[in-house]
Amino acid sequence: MPHAMLMAGPEGLGKLAFAKTLAARLLCEQLNEADGPDGMACGHCSSCTWLVSGNHPDFRLILPEEGDEAGEEGGEISTLPASARKPGQGPIRVDQIRSLADFVFIGSHRHGSRVAVIAPAEAMNPAAANALLKVLEEPPAGVYFILVSSDWRRLIPTIRSRCRSIQFGRPDPELAERWLTEKGVESAAELLRLTGGAPLLAADWAEQGRLDSCKKAIEALADKPVDPVAMSAKWSALLKGAQGFGLPQLVETVQKWVFDLILLKMSGGLRYHQNWREKLEMLAANASSTGLLACYNDLLRIRAVVRHPLNTQLFLEDLATRYLRALSAGRA
Ligand SMILES: [Zn+2]
Repeated sequence: MPHAMLMAGPEGLGKLAFAKTLAARLLCEQLNEADGPDGMACGHCSSCTWLVSGNHPDFRLILPEEGDEAGEEGGEISTLPASARKPGQGPIRVDQIRSLADFVFIGSHRHGSRVAVIAPAEAMNPAAANALLKVLEEPPAGVYFILVSSDWRRLIPTIRSRCRSIQFGRPDPELAERWLTEKGVESAAELLRLTGGAPLLAADWAEQGRLDSCKKAIEALADKPVDPVAMSAKWSALLKGAQGFGLPQLVETVQKWVFDLILLKMSGGLRYHQNWREKLEMLAANASSTGLLACYNDLLRIRAVVRHPLNTQLFLEDLATRYLRALSAGRA
């Protein structure tokens, strides 16, 4: 087993769940022999019990501490043990990685391995990444680092080169749909399409009741292009009554829509909006590829700052202006 592993792949495929399962297996003191020599964690030894309660002395889960979406809304998520929390949106700071040093260089509390999971690894700020690099350069025996990343290209190359990379692919759509349906998720097929085939993301959306708002936002995009003020007014009204759907989700929706417009123009394919093909074809006919690509790049930049816009109204109008400009660029 390599000392450092990188679980890389798109969001919503279960990379963190896999990392935690692997950690449990590395720490378990009584592997389930029924599964064969490479059995899974037993689920009931003291190590497994500690892990579930979130206070295993030989396990660390490093997550961004600030800007946790759920924390901002209700705060209830912070009362969960670290092992049950989901990554937040802020950076992973250097003191969080330095706190690992004690953990790494002091011996194991039990007999065996120590495991640190860092998720998402790309959230490490440069100082944190350099601090981790120092540890990865001389990893003590029995210590395993599992990095989880949906944006692994942003990791510094020296960290990537020290990790064994495991690439996660999208599961078979039918299998994913069946899994979601068995979990009681409604409109599984549609959710899967809109999340680009990521089942855990689809389950998250279902739990947050995001589908209806997302569809309304798409309907506004699919409408005959009007002026940016009218379009941003629609979005504004939508955001007010929306459940689990704020500005970041809106920008993401626009981004995926523009992505499909580009894909349609370039290859005739669609990734997210197969049900809207007719509308997309009409819009794409008038748009230029360069205009759409410029808009997509704008959206990438906007997405990075979307959490704290100074003025929501202006932000929405700017977003609508960029989108409508891309749509009409082909006519100019
Ligand atoms: Zn166990």
